[in-house]
Amino acid sequence: MNLVKEHAAFDVETIRKDFPILKRKINGKPLVYFDNAATSQTPQQVIDVIVDYYSNYNANIHRGVHSLSQEATDAYEQSRQKIQKHFNAAHSHEIIFTSGTTHGINLVASGFSSLLKVGDEILVSALEHHSNIVPWQMLCERTGAELKVIPMNEAGELILSEFDALLNENTKLVFVNHISNALGTINPIEYIIEKAHAYGAAVLVDGAQSCPHLKPDVQKLNVDFYVCSAHKICGPTGIGMLYGKEKWLKALPPYQGGGEMIAEVTFEKTSYADLPHKFEAGTPNVCGGIAFGAALDYMNAIGFNAIAKYEQELLSYATGKLSEIEGMKIYGTAKEKTSVISFNVGNIHPYDIGTILDKMGIAVRTGHHCAQPIMDYYQIPGTIRASFMFYNTKEEIDVFIAALKKAIMMLS
Ligand SMILES: *Cc1c(COP(=O)(O)O)cnc(C)c1O
Repeated sequence: MNLVKEHAAFDVETIRKDFPILKRKINGKPLVYFDNAATSQTPQQVIDVIVDYYSNYNANIHRGVHSLSQEATDAYEQSRQKIQKHFNAAHSHEIIFTSGTTHGINLVASGFSSLLKVGDEILVSALEHHSNIVPWQMLCERTGAELKVIPMNEAGELILSEFDALLNENTKLVFVNHISNALGTINPIEYIIEKAHAYGAAVLVDGAQSCPHLKPDVQKLNVDFYVCSAHKICGPTGIGMLYGKEKWLKALPPYQGGGEMIAEVTFEKTSYADLPHKFEAGTPNVCGGIAFGAALDYMNAIGFNAIAKYEQELLSYATGKLSEIEGMKIYGTAKEKTSVISFNVGNIHPYDIGTILDKMGIAVRTGHHCAQPIMDYYQIPGTIRASFMFYNTKEEIDVFIAALKKAIMMLS
């Protein structure tokens, strides 16, 4: 396949120049960064926005009458509108800035404490990240609701007939990730949302792994809550967003008390601010919020269709090369998956391979990927995970495959 022809407008070498870190050497070797599912790298365009903020208009927002505060407030609120537009939310006040996916999930789980009772049921998928399991277990402990698990099959796909069978009038919430960080499976969230709604259950989708690869339309999905982290979408750490349907955000109580989230405070009674401020107590990550918008601008300028198409090529190229290696076992072979490959080779411990790859400048993730239940399903302690973004190349995959073969020789 001719890449250049396929992507007239998508030139990976030009794109790579935007990422200063990709020029780095690690242990004397050019960096090959394949740990994108843990965090993505940041382009100069976004770094510039961060430098500009602290160099020129750093101020606290929503409070000051002075010019700097107004500039910062405007930029922060414009960023919220960018995010609204990107996800096609009906209102900008349905976008709540959070510190990331974990914060967004905890905000919703905490809010539902007052809405659930003994006998209610919560469904969670077997493919979840710990951050989409533990807050719901804590919610169940607080409320007496019961947590049930939608099982997966050997390919790493959710078994939808089992999901159908679990749904009933007591089901109040369903939590599922859009894409599994451990296996790359794209879950059929359209189906899950529609079925859950038929029983009156609300659905929260963890979009931490989907947002780097596709552009979700929250109105079309008709999803109740959608969460993600900017650091997996070329933005900085410590910032993310929770999308919630207006009716749900109005129904949930505030998550934290403090400045910014109130309308009026007396010692007798406090009234809460309108959305979105009700959920944004304290001084927010102003710079992060602005940089989040800049990261979306950057990715949209490249285009999510081009990104998805290119990443699928990387995925099938790497899958083909890995499959040729003796003793190779790839976990997660769903028909619909993104550019994440989890694997083991023979009985070699993933950590040993990861350590040798690092010596050769290659960053992969080893371990359980915050998804221990998936590892338990396959009865393994962990995997090696290579995850690609649009700035990776087939040449890097070749370097990785050669290094992997060397590591296997050294360890067997
Ligand atoms: C990374 C990730 C999270 C956690 O995101 P944070 O930024 O650490 O809060 C949750 N779910 C999935 C699927 C992830 O990939």
